[in-house]
Amino acid sequence: MSTPSLLILAGDGIGPEVMGEVRKVIDWYGANRGLSFNVSEGLVGGASYDAHGTPLTDETMARAQDVDAVLLGAVGGPAYDDLDFSVKPERGLLRLRKEMDLFANLRPAQCFDALADFSSLKREVVAGLDIMIVRELTSGIYFGEPRGIQDDNEGGRVGINTQRYTTNEIRRVARSAFELARRRSNKVCSMEKANVMESGILWREEVTWVHDNEYPDVELSHMYADAGAMQLCRWPKQFDVIVTDNLFGDILSDAAAMLTGSLGMLPSASLGAPMANGRPKALYEPVHGSAPDITGLGKANPIACILSFAMALRYSFDQGDEAARLENAVEAVLASGARTADLLGPEGGAPINTSQMGDAIVSALDASIR
Ligand code: NAD
Repeated sequence: MSTPSLLILAGDGIGPEVMGEVRKVIDWYGANRGLSFNVSEGLVGGASYDAHGTPLTDETMARAQDVDAVLLGAVGGPAYDDLDFSVKPERGLLRLRKEMDLFANLRPAQCFDALADFSSLKREVVAGLDIMIVRELTSGIYFGEPRGIQDDNEGGRVGINTQRYTTNEIRRVARSAFELARRRSNKVCSMEKANVMESGILWREEVTWVHDNEYPDVELSHMYADAGAMQLCRWPKQFDVIVTDNLFGDILSDAAAMLTGSLGMLPSASLGAPMANGRPKALYEPVHGSAPDITGLGKANPIACILSFAMALRYSFDQGDEAARLENAVEAVLASGARTADLLGPEGGAPINTSQMGDAIVSALDASIR
């Protein structure tokens, strides 16, 4: 196969700072593991608006469609808050997700042992936690029609949103979840509200259909999303892969993320249908935003962005062992006590800066091949 291609869209705020550290890691793989990438760069968000008057140009959109994977930093910032909705930085990201049809959003909640005391839950509840939430990203109540705010003809108003899912939309995201489970602990829990929503009944039936017909070897369970939220806080380690709709996934993945501590640690992947070469359409990005409060101060934690690249190694490039090498390098650095400012507990300590964290991870990668 030809050299895999990566489009880097660093974006705004701390995006370019954390992406600089990812570049060090990419270069390390090229120099030490024979894993080279054809890397190109582009603009997104406010940076693209400043240069071109739009948060994503057609040309960048076309390049994103063309590459094997897109790595994105973050978009947004106070300088763009008053822009018209149509050119706000977030529109660039939404356009990428929509036009690449990235229907499966993968949000791991993984608790590194060295940070277990950082969680709001007890150490024994979160230490060693490794779960994956698969959220349907392109349909459901955020997109369903009719929607809007109308007069109710009785002197008041009515706000309307519609939860709508088709067989195909449910089946394709269910397949993503079952495929993932096969690479992990082989368990999927599907969450909906089949007790009060017809769309939930359909969701449960279609997930069950995919399971029975295509993935009978994977263990499938169902849970109402509200009960799932409680179980995530009570004993999250009971889960392996959770698959759920857009709305519940939005909420449950944020809740699960906080089990593990800082926003600076959380990667994500958004995957679509396979391309001609078999790789899925893919965009990898940290969960955090552009963090204007710390931009330019060297305080940004690059780990979320680096772990997003680890997800790219695993899910786009079939390099699970190399992804694990990178995750282990992060674990080793944290175990050594190195912390960016966001990872310092109440007892404080001396933080290292963004670049030092990137260098420490590269040194740990070096150590892994010695
Ligand atoms: P944020 O995630 O940017 O920041 C929230 C808090 O977490 C801040 O105190 C920030 O300093 C801290 N933080 C975030 N990432 C960090 C990191 N890597 N290392 C250390 N600390 C980190 O969220 P916000 O403040 O609500 O939003 C700021 C801007 O980012 C807004 O314009 C928002 O629209 C945008 N945003 C973009 C995305 C995205 O690009 N996907 C996501 C969320 C918010």
